[in-house]
Amino acid sequence: MNPIHPVRPVLFVPHGSPMFALHPGPAGAAMSDLMARMPAPRAIVVVSPHWETAVPTVGTATRMETIHDFGGFDPRLFEIQYPATGCPEAAQQVVAALQAAGIPVATDAQRGLDHGAWVPLRQMFPDTDVPVVPLSVQHHGGPQHAYRVGQALAPLAQQGILIVASGNVTHNLRDWQMVSMTGQPTPDYVPQFADWVHAQMTGRQDQALLNYRQSQPAGTRAHPRDEHLLPLFTALGAAGADAQPEAFYRGIYDHVIAMDGYAFH
Ligand code: ZN
Repeated sequence: MNPIHPVRPVLFVPHGSPMFALHPGPAGAAMSDLMARMPAPRAIVVVSPHWETAVPTVGTATRMETIHDFGGFDPRLFEIQYPATGCPEAAQQVVAALQAAGIPVATDAQRGLDHGAWVPLRQMFPDTDVPVVPLSVQHHGGPQHAYRVGQALAPLAQQGILIVASGNVTHNLRDWQMVSMTGQPTPDYVPQFADWVHAQMTGRQDQALLNYRQSQPAGTRAHPRDEHLLPLFTALGAAGADAQPEAFYRGIYDHVIAMDGYAFH
């Protein structure tokens, strides 16, 4: 893939299975390369589907605990720490931006970084040198709400804050367990859905994307529950309606997890 030069400080990044931390492969390399071409942000707002709450909740801690929110994986994963500092000031800006958009918001002074947050951030900022503000996802709100949250965050992107929305373009845990056990090949719906998302992203067909469960037959198989796709809508909203999405990586890990990532021009 050609190197791209994103101008908007908004990204949709994959986080894969926790093993992505040990085996970053080409998706990890693409994420590292991308950061080398972007200006260093003042702070990062990271949206992870592994933190679900009733209303958008902003982490205000000054030191971020590394949360190992998974079981049954390689013991080396549990030794990894990503000791990022928090940024109460940027957290307050996130709260204010959501309030200004009329979105109810809460804060959490204890919350650290789950693997949906620290695995990609460790790949992108291995020196832990940029403070991080975690932001939760609301499953019940669906794509429209996630998009609105993104739109509310758009002004932050003009204040030196990088918005990192972490998810996966396909995420069917049952299929992942099945292929892990049986070694079956990639089911057709995985590339089909990822290709469809790519076409809608590059054509900026936001409505089709927001209604993906109706507009794409593979949608419900790719996301039996849609929390891992919701950050994509937040990224789209935050980038702004005039932003042009471009994939900085496209590929499939573990047979069923599309690792596609998007930047915005
Ligand atoms: Zn995940």
